Amino acid sequence: MYDSFLRAYRMRQALLHVAVLLLFAPLTLAKQIYPGYTWSQPTDGIYLHSRADPLAGPVDGNSIVIVNEADVFVVDTHIDPAAARAVIGKIRQITDKPVSHVINTHWHDDHANGNHAYRQAFPEAKIVAHRATLASLETEWQPLEDQRQATYKSLAGRDLQAAAAAAEADDPDRAMGIRLFDGYRQALEPELPTMELVYPDLLFDDQLLFERGERTIVVSWLGRGNTEGDAVVWLPEEKMLITGDVLVAPIPFAFDSPMRDWIDTLGRIVELGAETIIPGHGPVQRDEEYLRQVVRLLESTVAAVDKAKTRGVAYVDLEQEVDLSELERLFTGGDAMHTYAWRSYFFSPGLKSAWISLGYPVPEED
Ligand SMILES: [Zn+2]
Repeated sequence: MYDSFLRAYRMRQALLHVAVLLLFAPLTLAKQIYPGYTWSQPTDGIYLHSRADPLAGPVDGNSIVIVNEADVFVVDTHIDPAAARAVIGKIRQITDKPVSHVINTHWHDDHANGNHAYRQAFPEAKIVAHRATLASLETEWQPLEDQRQATYKSLAGRDLQAAAAAAEADDPDRAMGIRLFDGYRQALEPELPTMELVYPDLLFDDQLLFERGERTIVVSWLGRGNTEGDAVVWLPEEKMLITGDVLVAPIPFAFDSPMRDWIDTLGRIVELGAETIIPGHGPVQRDEEYLRQVVRLLESTVAAVDKAKTRGVAYVDLEQEVDLSELERLFTGGDAMHTYAWRSYFFSPGLKSAWISLGYPVPEED
């Protein structure tokens, strides 16, 4: 995910740090912020490295290891290079076969920061992405990591955990916001100075097909989705789909997403008839229920925004005027952490994405 902290920071660079930290405000659950990662094995020869809590900071994408007859494919490389190195360590425990291909499903850095670790460990490996993903990485990635480093540097000497503890009694939401941010900082501050940006070097427009003995790996672009260049990885023998952030559980991310195209793309995913779906974040799905729930959410969001526009609601009033409370309950179950994620990662950016995808103009920000 393109995390909301830096997004806001980059767009409004004059904001004070404290004000930015408040963007994380409404969390009320006491959470362990960096609880680490877990391994699972969705099927024979396929391994999933996933955040134990997909909503805790740093929010990080799933990384999937596919062990073939003579080589290994990896899908997505994490935001934290240390997590990528952990995956590489695991691969070396499982097999002596080399990683031949690393796929970046899209440009967000929680799916690409680990590329450097793979280039160091497996210099021959090709890094695969859609052509639009490379274009976005070339324009967005360096400024994003520069901004992250500058932010951490400007906070040097500030004990964020102490600041969080001090805020706890009067403003527990703010305390949680600081702790969430500190989860990113703890993971990335030691890593970014030596992390090189390693860009994809095997590009595709529509599809790449890899035959690996009994396994076929199809890397496809099914249309614009969460970003311009979302790659999905389809294993027809296993009926398994690895989606990147076209599908994220338990709450979709909707930053700058072409939402009407995204609905069509998810429709093509439904048609594949996958029996196992590994989303970009969150747990493995063994049926299409969640996928269909997300389709319904996006359709309802676009329809509600369009209806609001038709009855004269201004862009700036969308969050007050658009009611998705029934779907909010379905996705959050009333859980405080889920509700925070709903508001920050879906509702607020999603209304904007829906508005833009309907062709309506967004007023200039001050
Ligand atoms: Zn992501």
